[in-house]
Amino acid sequence: MVKKDFSKFSFLHLLFIFSIILTSCKDKSCEIEKKELEKTCISIDWKEGLNKDNQAIKLPVYMDYQATTQIDPRVLEEMYYVEKNFYGNANSLHKLGKDAEKLVQKARKQVADVIKAKPNEIIFTSGATESNNLAIKGMVETYGKKTGKKHIITSMTEHACILESCKNVEKNEDIEITYLCPKEDGLIDLDELEKAIQPNTLMISIMGVNNEIGVIQDLEKIGKIAKKHNVFFHTDCAQAFGKIPLDVDKMGIDLMSISGHKIYGPKGIGALFIRQHGKKKIDLKPQMNGGGQEKGIRSGTLAVPLIVGLGKASEIMKQDFEKDSKHINQLSEKLKNELKKIEGSKLNGSEKQRYNGNLNFSFKGVGALELVQSLGDKVALSIGSACGSSHEATDSYVIKSIGVDTKISGGAIRIGIGRFTTEKEVDYAINEIKREVERQRGKK
Ligand code: PLP
Repeated sequence: MVKKDFSKFSFLHLLFIFSIILTSCKDKSCEIEKKELEKTCISIDWKEGLNKDNQAIKLPVYMDYQATTQIDPRVLEEMYYVEKNFYGNANSLHKLGKDAEKLVQKARKQVADVIKAKPNEIIFTSGATESNNLAIKGMVETYGKKTGKKHIITSMTEHACILESCKNVEKNEDIEITYLCPKEDGLIDLDELEKAIQPNTLMISIMGVNNEIGVIQDLEKIGKIAKKHNVFFHTDCAQAFGKIPLDVDKMGIDLMSISGHKIYGPKGIGALFIRQHGKKKIDLKPQMNGGGQEKGIRSGTLAVPLIVGLGKASEIMKQDFEKDSKHINQLSEKLKNELKKIEGSKLNGSEKQRYNGNLNFSFKGVGALELVQSLGDKVALSIGSACGSSHEATDSYVIKSIGVDTKISGGAIRIGIGRFTTEKEVDYAINEIKREVERQRGKK
């Protein structure tokens, strides 16, 4: 009888089966990952809808540009290249480190150029929340202690991160805060601001563009008042940077907070402008201790691809300023005029002094929350700030502070228009908002 030798065969066979199992497991895990992602991500498969001229449109139409913006493909492309190729630590002494450092310096200049600052006046942070915290707490810890000045002036319509930072120093550092109430149009009364200044006022913190109602504060006049009384001036420009002309010298700004994801850049990156030239050379107490990066003001390994993304996004904001403004103004005008035609509608905030990429409307008798929720799959809108949208419902503190009676109006909706908004989308949104307002009213 011929004996067959199976030993070699079975080993190869096993190896083959094992590799098939491995490959299929790998594929399966990929599939699982993809499914998990699809479960958690909001809109991998976009639905298509038709506008009133029966043209296809991607739904939901994105009109929440103040909450965040889509990343510009030009930014993403540069970030991808940097992430892949320039992975060195910007503080390392070898070539990869030096190359990364060069990219960081380029981005510093790109950011500085938008506000006519010097590159060495830009400190990278994780976003405007961190910049605002650093500005308020850092100033109190440095100058509050050095000069004994213990008073800050801000406004009731600032973003939560300013209000919470103020509360923090109020409680922990014994700082007195004056919260100015804006006028009905959302603007700060400049006489009131000047009157609020005391001999022990350390700083004024007033935002550039309001994130809920889009009004533009007169930064130049505020800067002049601050200078006249020898008070530091900080401004949260998360919604203003790159969207309205900003000049730190002309406007007498000492500190400015900036965010990447409001300008078609990445999330998780921002900057703080800290004046280093002229008479005031500001020295800020760091809020993050560590390896001493960013001149010791903000420790932590520099996120080079994010920084490059912020730099590129800033450069594009500057370069495309006229084009973007024209596009946004045109679409905003159309949207505003059509929504004004709805009976009982009201544009909240100054009509003249506003950033047109941000409209805020109330419709008498119509709940803003119901409106935003029922339109959710068609038009991505917001009620007030994204930070409070899910739970604060109709009671936005900004809307209330400008005297909008939320019991009558049912609150307000924020409508954002940006670089990627199309006329087709605006037409679609107008139609859907009109239809939904009528439907809500019909229900009562
Ligand atoms: N300040 C204003 C006016 C904002 O609109 C935002 C974002 O919503 C922030 C600060 C916080 O910015 P970031 O998300 O970069 O921390």
